[in-house]
Amino acid sequence: MTKISNHLPTAELQALDAAHHVHPFTTQTELAERGARVITGAQGCWLTDSEGHSILDAMAGLWCVNIGYGRTELAEVAARQMTELPYYNTFFMTTHAPVIALSKKLAELAPEGLNKVMFASSGSEANDTNIRLVRTYWAEKGKPEKQTIISRWNAYHGSSVGSGSLGGMKGMHMQGGLPIPGIHHIDQPDWWSEGGDMSPEDFGLERAQQLEKAILELGEENVAAFIAEPVQGAGGVIVPPETYWPEIQRICDKYEILLIADEVICGFGRTGHWFGSQAVGIRPDIMTIAKGLSSGYQPIGGSILSDEVAEVIGATEFNHGYTYSGHPVASAVALENLRILDEEGVVETFGSVTAPYLKEKFEGLARHPMVGEAKIVGGMGSIALTPDAESRAKFKAPGGTVGYMVRERCFANNLVMRHVGDRMIISPPLVISKEEIDTLIERAWTSLDEAMAQVK
Ligand code: PLP
Repeated sequence: MTKISNHLPTAELQALDAAHHVHPFTTQTELAERGARVITGAQGCWLTDSEGHSILDAMAGLWCVNIGYGRTELAEVAARQMTELPYYNTFFMTTHAPVIALSKKLAELAPEGLNKVMFASSGSEANDTNIRLVRTYWAEKGKPEKQTIISRWNAYHGSSVGSGSLGGMKGMHMQGGLPIPGIHHIDQPDWWSEGGDMSPEDFGLERAQQLEKAILELGEENVAAFIAEPVQGAGGVIVPPETYWPEIQRICDKYEILLIADEVICGFGRTGHWFGSQAVGIRPDIMTIAKGLSSGYQPIGGSILSDEVAEVIGATEFNHGYTYSGHPVASAVALENLRILDEEGVVETFGSVTAPYLKEKFEGLARHPMVGEAKIVGGMGSIALTPDAESRAKFKAPGGTVGYMVRERCFANNLVMRHVGDRMIISPPLVISKEEIDTLIERAWTSLDEAMAQVK
């Protein structure tokens, strides 16, 4: 039998991949025609592919490799842990040192009053946990009718039945009978696309007040929680107007609605703070975590709970958990990742030195004739592509066509940027250097120029 490894010719790997591997969020027939790009290695902010290209990864994988690629300390910790205790569960009154240490570290890093963690293997699983958790919380408090969770259109909270229902991606809802009952969506605070003639400030307030309207319509006694990403990521890096979050917090407080901050992307330094909740000034009752928790080196996620939520949930047996909740190897690797982010000052340096430089350079892309706005919070940035910045017009080609063209030019120029419709996104590793930021901006500009030549 031929051993399948990077030594095989690219075309052979691509053919085998297309024959046997079903990719997420991909049209398989297109994949079979084009062949997947085969990634063979990575170091720092750079990927290598099977054709020998060196590619600047301005997306940190899928928004997750916060410490950058190639940190051998994490591999060593994983190997040690696999030798000592490769697996044991945390059901039935058992525990182990890696999960204890990770939980303690998370309690230290999280905002005040969030001290307990329930683990999962991904952000989707953690948000599924949250659905059951908030409903159980209110049932335990004698309000079992408080079941409905309010979320937002164009939010992304995961791909499972529960988390996909929490999300507001209409394309996902169309497949597989989503959303499940008891989820209600309000509009997103996307001023660029949906703000019309309103000022960003008025628009932010209007969108936040949709939460209050929904609570009154559904009945305060029926609403359990509101879930949102501090800054929407997969929806296109939608930076909300400054008026938005203070109003949301006021409404959650007024009506006793639990606030779930989905920190899967925003957490662990991505916004220039440890958590996105700190960047936008909110006090969540639950934070969903994953991705940067282990910088993607191991699959792990979880929910960090406020003391109040933990106390209520802890008073009964919460019939929930996954085989790999608090997996020892994933926990040990996540802890080592947090140690590096913390002790090497990665989050601190990113927030105080790198992010301001990145902001200055990234916002300069707004001067490109095809770019309307360039917005960035810490290391989450997006540019809106438009034929006319003044009127915030859309391209005549179907939404996403121009974004797709720019993304293709980026690939050709050895830069990974993602497109969401006609927005182009970055979310680089936090260890990106100033020189690499310059390269990123140069390649993005060149790719925009090349795409513009095709559009005209
Ligand atoms: N929540 C947010 C905000 C996300 O961006 C994602 C993934 O992109 C998820 C949840 C789901 O996480 P996972 O893909 O680990 O299930």
